[in-house]
Order: sequence, then structure tokens, then C-alpha cells
Amino acid sequence: MKWFKLQCPRCKTSVRRQSRGLALTALTKHLWKYHRAWMLSRMKSTDKDTLNNPHVLRLLQDLVTGDFIPGYRRYKRKHYEILKPVLDKLSPFMPIEIQLAWRGIDKLADMLYTKN
Ligand SMILES: [Zn+2]
Repeated sequence: MKWFKLQCPRCKTSVRRQSRGLALTALTKHLWKYHRAWMLSRMKSTDKDTLNNPHVLRLLQDLVTGDFIPGYRRYKRKHYEILKPVLDKLSPFMPIEIQLAWRGIDKLADMLYTKN
């Protein structure tokens, strides 16, 4: 049986679960329980730095509603690249549907954006 292990970036506590999804959920719970102030400040600074760009906001909105794949031609690689580091950090704290959508897009990105 393969176990998935994730480590808390704050206190190095490890969580081990039977799937990556379960491990992410457990780590998210841990972070909110033990590092709530840090989580909040992290979300706030992310918000300030990047979410003022309307293209990035739109891209994020399409990601949440599931319209990203059909609408990806509206975006340039640079919009995706602004969002990528943010979503890589935040997606573990988002609902599982968004995590999955993001992982799918992330995998497709090189293919989607080579023509831009
Ligand atoms: Zn911790």
C-alpha cells in the first residue's frame, strides 16, 4: 500500500494518508488549526500582490466555474504564469474540484500555451 506524505511548511509536522487528496485535506485542517494567523496573512498578501489584474481575476473566475478549458484562448501565457505560483500555493486550501481543475490545467498548460 502506497502512502502519501505531506509536510507542514510551518512546523514540519508530517501527515500520512492513503491518497494525495486525503493528505492535502489533512494538511489543510492542520494549517487552519495550528497556523490560522499565518494562513490569513498569506491569503491577504497574495490578494494584494496579484489579484488586481483583471485578466488574472477572470482566469481565476473561469477556473472556479469550470469555464477555463473552453475559454483558455482568452488568456495569454503571462496571465497563466502570474496565477501559477499563487494557485500552486493556494489550491491545497481550495475545494477539491478546484484543486483538480487546477492540476489538470497545469498539466495541459505547456500544450495550451505554446502557440501564444
Ligand atoms: Zn504545522
